[in-house]
Amino acid sequence: MVEYDAVVVGAGIIGLSTAYHLKNESPNAKILVVDKLNAAGQANTAKSAAAFRCLFSSHTNFVLADSSVEFYRHLQMDMNIDLKLKQTGYLWLFDEEDYKKMIPALEGLSKKGFEYDVHSEEELAEKLGLKTNLADDEEAKMMGLGSVYKGIFIPKAGIVDVDVLVKFYESEFLRLGGKIQYGTNVESVAVEPREVLGIPGEPYFWQSARSCGVNTNKGLIRAKQVVIAAGAWISQLLDPLGIECHVKSMKRQVFSVKARTDALQKLLFTKGFNDAGCVPFTIMPKPSVYFRPALEEDAFWLSYADEFPRAFKLEDDPQPEEYFYQYGMYQVLVKYFPQFTGCRPFSAFAGLYAVNTLDGQPVIFKEKGLIVVGGASGSGIMKADAIGRIATALYRGEEQAILYGDRKFKVSDLGLKNRHVEAERLVI
Ligand SMILES: Cc1cc2nc3c(=O)[nH]c(=O)nc-3n(C[C@H](O)[C@H](O)[C@H](O)COP(=O)(O)OP(=O)(O)OC[C@H]3O[C@@H](n4cnc5c(N)ncnc54)[C@H](O)[C@@H]3O)c2cc1C
Repeated sequence: MVEYDAVVVGAGIIGLSTAYHLKNESPNAKILVVDKLNAAGQANTAKSAAAFRCLFSSHTNFVLADSSVEFYRHLQMDMNIDLKLKQTGYLWLFDEEDYKKMIPALEGLSKKGFEYDVHSEEELAEKLGLKTNLADDEEAKMMGLGSVYKGIFIPKAGIVDVDVLVKFYESEFLRLGGKIQYGTNVESVAVEPREVLGIPGEPYFWQSARSCGVNTNKGLIRAKQVVIAAGAWISQLLDPLGIECHVKSMKRQVFSVKARTDALQKLLFTKGFNDAGCVPFTIMPKPSVYFRPALEEDAFWLSYADEFPRAFKLEDDPQPEEYFYQYGMYQVLVKYFPQFTGCRPFSAFAGLYAVNTLDGQPVIFKEKGLIVVGGASGSGIMKADAIGRIATALYRGEEQAILYGDRKFKVSDLGLKNRHVEAERLVI
């Protein structure tokens, strides 16, 4: 039976970035990727809004996103891979109270050379047809919505075509000689004693054991190193082994609304923010409902990452909830953007965030010989390249990963034992 040097479970953006960097750094290693689905990037990677931003207050977040986005820009600009990456920018709308809380973080970032522009209430109302003053709106008051005081525009942010990115990692991995088996469901991680004695039910607690591959619907696949990059399903494979990964899944929904009216066309193609000639990815004041320009569909994608009492729930086919749009997001949206009045979504989808319940940052650790990569908590596309490089450094036993742009990253900072990540103050 073939024994691989490494088997990577999961062909989402994180598994494929990891597999590609593993193979790139260790060209002689025999590496296999398996996925239960029939093609790459079909689970939560396909459900994402595929947006990115490079402005974060936490150094970890900044380095992971900024170096990944620089790599994606390099692919598009220097390697002619059309990722359809557009720097639409992010426009973050704040009420007065939250804007004042944000000032220290912004001043700190500005000293480090990060770029952002502050837009006044009047300017925003004029450019976007935005209703900024909700002080006399009884419904808005009841809903706890604040008036827009300022907008912070982050230019180094935007959108990308995640399918093309997935294809890049998949095809490069294959070109380097990696193998992929789709339609292969990993039922469990295979464990055996280092010294096999042939007794029924081994390994026993007195035996030194190791993972030796994965048990799948197509039989055992042997590998010296198992890498679990199964996204929201990570704990399904780790719980039976008593390994805690602090990753839970939570449903997230996206509703697409066509820009059918003149007012919505005007909003979608708002000029003056970016070279793409469109409205930026826009985040409303708390509760932070957002829309993303979906130019290829002539539409807006609307979403909101709700928390309490949203359940942690692992579902294979999560469904969008009509009422979540109708009585949730729509009600907030039309208060600020009356252009959407009467708009119904023409399509919708739902996926799962793999939430790291410790601090909302990815986890990349090795335990009992298994490498675990995931918990990207809703920002796995924008950080995937860096995550793959860090997981590769862990596989190769290196203390530092070298991210794109020659930035060093201490591998143990995203581990569990010596974890070191700062709290994020610019949370959406
Ligand atoms: C609605 C929504 C919007 C989002 N928006 C953004 C955004 O704008 N920007 C951003 O950066 N991120 C966003 N994200 C997050 C992003 O999609 C994820 O962080 C990223 O896709 C995670 O990649 P992954 O490879 O870990 O997971 P996945 O893409 O889910 O891949 C995991 C793979 O593992 C496979 N698998 C699982 N269990 C097994 C098994 N037992 N055997 C074999 N295969 C298995 C699955 O089939 C799947 O293909 C969003 C997510 C959602 C749901």
